[in-house]
This record gives sequence, structure tokens and C-alpha cells, in this order.
Amino acid sequence: MSSVLIFDSEYPVSRAAISLIFSHFTPPTVRTLVKPNLLGGFECDRHVTTHPSLIQALVEYLEQAGIPLTVGDNPAGKKNLMERAKRAGIYQASKGYFEDISDGTKVTTRSNYFSELVVSRKVMESPYIVNVPKFKTHMQTIITGAVKNMFGILPGEEKSMVHCAARSLDQFSRALVDVYAIRPPHLNVMDAIMVMEGNGPSSGTPRHLGKILASDNGVELDAVMAYMMGLDPHEVPMLEYAHRQGLGAIDIDEIDIIGDIKKIPHFRVPSRTLVTVITPVSSRYYDFMAVKPTLNRNKCTRCYECVEKCPVSALQRNHYPRLNREKCVSCFCCVEICENQAMEVPSRARDLFNRLLKM
Ligand code: SF4
Ligand code: SF4
Repeated sequence: MSSVLIFDSEYPVSRAAISLIFSHFTPPTVRTLVKPNLLGGFECDRHVTTHPSLIQALVEYLEQAGIPLTVGDNPAGKKNLMERAKRAGIYQASKGYFEDISDGTKVTTRSNYFSELVVSRKVMESPYIVNVPKFKTHMQTIITGAVKNMFGILPGEEKSMVHCAARSLDQFSRALVDVYAIRPPHLNVMDAIMVMEGNGPSSGTPRHLGKILASDNGVELDAVMAYMMGLDPHEVPMLEYAHRQGLGAIDIDEIDIIGDIKKIPHFRVPSRTLVTVITPVSSRYYDFMAVKPTLNRNKCTRCYECVEKCPVSALQRNHYPRLNREKCVSCFCCVEICENQAMEVPSRARDLFNRLLKM
């Protein structure tokens, strides 16, 4: 039976913390892939990416146990991968085990949105995977944790294809679960020492929680995270669908929890309108109702990374990046990858104002 372990921890993460995890979950004896959340080249004190000290503690534990290992992720776009990993501190923390894992292999899937996908070869060939997500909100999918972090098993261009094939919140949430189900990780170790509330996964507000969560079931781990955020896990489309697919329990009473679980007081999650209004409607209405990103020119350095990474070419190179609202599918990849936080998610009122400006 799977379980979720919750315990206190701080940075730098100690070897004792990793030993505690492996006293509850069977440690790997075979080649292992450590999959952090390397969303982009964000400095670790911004708490967007998995903290390097957690990666380092895991790497040192596995290295001392004689386990062959690789550390790798597929952030949006392959360009400057090593530079981004260095800026996030994950490259240094990996102690020579960090690799480019973007080489892909075709995998047949059981999904309504795609019959096959290109998945990282390293992911498919690694007999044991340790998923190391961050405890964060997500303005499109409400939460991002263990399940969403496995979207990174797809090289960049493949992620764009999924965004185009599954456009509404409900569709995209199901597609994420379909990707997760290709290769569910054996162990999930979640960095919840500094978490993110508000408009995650990159523009939210860091907040101290001082916890590490670990589980051999990513769906149950995410359900615990959602509960701690003050959400009903059934309200999160990704979790509800994963549960219906038989991938894990999401009722807190049905999850074996080792440690104290408490709701975080006044934790800010993205607008509940997403959950209660947009989720049940079709992609056509979703397109109409969803807010679109807005540019803060004061922060923009005109690197045009967002233009290159937009999966539907809704951003054009101009004096500054220019948005085509009709083409935009509100995936917020541009907000995620902008390392200057120049792409923002506007309030609904501000979005309405932007919409009127275009008329
Ligand atoms: S919004 Fe961000 S990613 Fe896009 S051009 Fe400006 S700085 Fe670069
Ligand atoms: S403009 Fe941004 S939010 Fe819109 S589709 Fe492109 S990447 Fe996604």
C-alpha cells in the first residue's frame, strides 16, 4: 500500500532527511533518474525550481549507495539548458551527474488527445525514477506538484503539441495525467520547505512551510498538497481524473499519511473561477472566458524567448512581444519561461480592459 510521509526540514537539506525517506520507502538498487523541477533559469532564492540542496542531498545519498544515476529535466526549449541549470544551482548540486535528456523516443499512449508521444529516452530506459517536484500553485492547472512535474518527461516541442491538442483546463488536466501514466515515478520527494502561493508556478509568492513530503504515489502526494493548500482535491481536475483512472486515492481519509497534515492558514490559490466556472465548459467557451497574458514593458528585456516558445505562435516579434488574443490558448508557458517576470497573468478586470483596448 502506498503512503505519504510529511516531516519538518530546512535548507540545506541534510543526509538525515534523505535517510528518513529511505527508511519508509525502498531505496533504488538500479540505475536511477532524478527528475527535478527545472522550470527555467531561476535563481534558487526565487523558489520556482527545486532547491539545489535537496537535489544534492539525494545525489550524495545515491552516490554513496553505489547507484548509477542521472539528473535531468526538459525545461521549455533546449537552448541554454546547461546555463539555466547552473543559474538554478541544479547543475552544481548534481555533482557531475546532470545530463541533457532531451533525446526522445516514440511511445504509444492511451489518450483521447494523442496516440503517440515523443518521450525522453532516458526516462523510458531508467529502471527507477525519483521525481523531485516543488510545492506550488499553478495559474492554469491550480496546483503543480508530482503529476505536473512529469510533464517534463516530454522534450520541449512535444509539450507544445500537447498544449495545442488539449486546450481547456479540463482537457489539459487529463492530458497531463495521460503523460504521467506513461511512466509513473517510483518515488516522489517534494520540496515544501519554501512553497509558492498565488500565481504560481513562477510569478507567485514564496512562503516558508519547512516541510518535505515524500510518497511512492504521486497522485496521493498531490492530493495531500492540495488539501494543505485549503483545496478539496476533487475540485482539482487533474486529481479527479487521475483518481478516476485508478492512479491513486484523493480523499484524505483514504490516504495513509505518516506525519501531521494541517491546512496552511490563508494560503492563496489561483482564482476559484477557474475551478468552478471554466472547468465544466467546452474549449470554445474556455477560449472566450480565459484571461490572456499581459506584458509589463518595464521588466521586459526583449529576449523574445516567449515568442519562440509559444506553442501556437500567438506572440509576434515586434518592438516588444505582441499578443494575438485569438490565437492564444492561455497555457501561460510564456509566463512560466519569462525569467524576468515580464509576462503577467492579469486580473479578470484588467483582462477585460485589455480586451476592450483591442476592439
Ligand atoms: S516577456 Fe520575458 S521572455 Fe518575453 S521578451 Fe520580454 S523578457 Fe523575454
Ligand atoms: S501567448 Fe503565452 S499563454 Fe498564450 S498561447 Fe502563447 S505561450 Fe500560451
